[in-house]
Amino acid sequence: MSSNTPIPCFICLIELTNVEGSTNQPHDGVEFTSYGHYGSTFFDPIDGSALAINVCDACLADREGLIGLYQRRVTRITEDLDLLTNQERHELLRRNG
Ligand SMILES: [Zn+2]
Repeated sequence: MSSNTPIPCFICLIELTNVEGSTNQPHDGVEFTSYGHYGSTFFDPIDGSALAINVCDACLADREGLIGLYQRRVTRITEDLDLLTNQERHELLRRNG
C-alpha cells in the first residue's frame, strides 16, 4: 500500500483514491480496522497489529440495511475532581462512567 493507492474496496474491488497526505484514507469510502476478535479463527493476533479493509460508499449504500450502527462512548471529565464534594464527584463519575 502506497500513499497514493489505498486498499481497493473489499466488496467490488474498485480502486479508490486517497485523501491527500494520508496512507489509507479513501475518498468516497470508509476504512475499517480491527485488532482482532476473540472467536475469530482468521485474525486475533493479540500483538497490537491490525488489519484494514476499505469499502466504497456505493457498496455501503447498497448494503445499508446490513450495517450495524452504534455510538462510541466518549468520556470527558473537565472538572477538577479535587474541588468537588463527594456527592458531586460521585454524580460526575456516574454520568461519565
Ligand atoms: Zn465497492
